[in-house]
Amino acid sequence: MKVLMYHNIDHPPKTSEMKSLYVSPQKFQRQMQILRSMKFRVVEPNRFVEGKRSVMLTFDDGYKDFLEKAYPILKEMNLPAIVFVPAKLVGSYNVWDSYKLGVKKYLMDWEELSFLVKEGIKIGSHTLTHPFLTRISPSEARREIEASKKLLEDKLGIPIDAFCYPYGDYNQEIKKMVAEAGYRYAYTTVEGDWRREDDPLEIKRIYVSGYWTSLRFLLKILI
Ligand SMILES: [Zn+2]
Repeated sequence: MKVLMYHNIDHPPKTSEMKSLYVSPQKFQRQMQILRSMKFRVVEPNRFVEGKRSVMLTFDDGYKDFLEKAYPILKEMNLPAIVFVPAKLVGSYNVWDSYKLGVKKYLMDWEELSFLVKEGIKIGSHTLTHPFLTRISPSEARREIEASKKLLEDKLGIPIDAFCYPYGDYNQEIKKMVAEAGYRYAYTTVEGDWRREDDPLEIKRIYVSGYWTSLRFLLKILI
């Protein structure tokens, strides 16, 4: 199966760098329709299955556009998804790369996340503040990994068992901390399909670029 990785579901602001992070709502809707018409199974987050025509939908960073643009489409089509949020930045914005990208992207607040939880959307941890985990001290990294789980669990009242490495940055030491914190699944940015023999703390994904045409999307999910 394939785990699809999305960031923003919106039109990119003209000034933004890395416009590939933005999939327009129209394109996203079309992609979901392609999944349906090609008889793909969209599996529950953290439920891995073997088989070519299966995908999981993941959204990094918890942008407000998930609630405003992606969620209505998912709800209408009854599709499950998971959103990875930097727990200390809930209700704030992308402070980790807003300067570099030249754009402030607002993140959902606790009330909005609670609403999504009630609606059946899964939430995972994306640390506290979205650092490069291998570039900070081990004690800081451990805190980012452990305290984010606790904060999300306290605020949302649900168990959090999935983690997503910011920037896909991790090593064996970081992975061990993720395991010791009690996470069962950790999502990377390594490109590839999910296979049964894969380490559940090193889940590969497919980056869905905003530049893809529908045909490119179709080819990507079929091969
Ligand atoms: Zn991220």
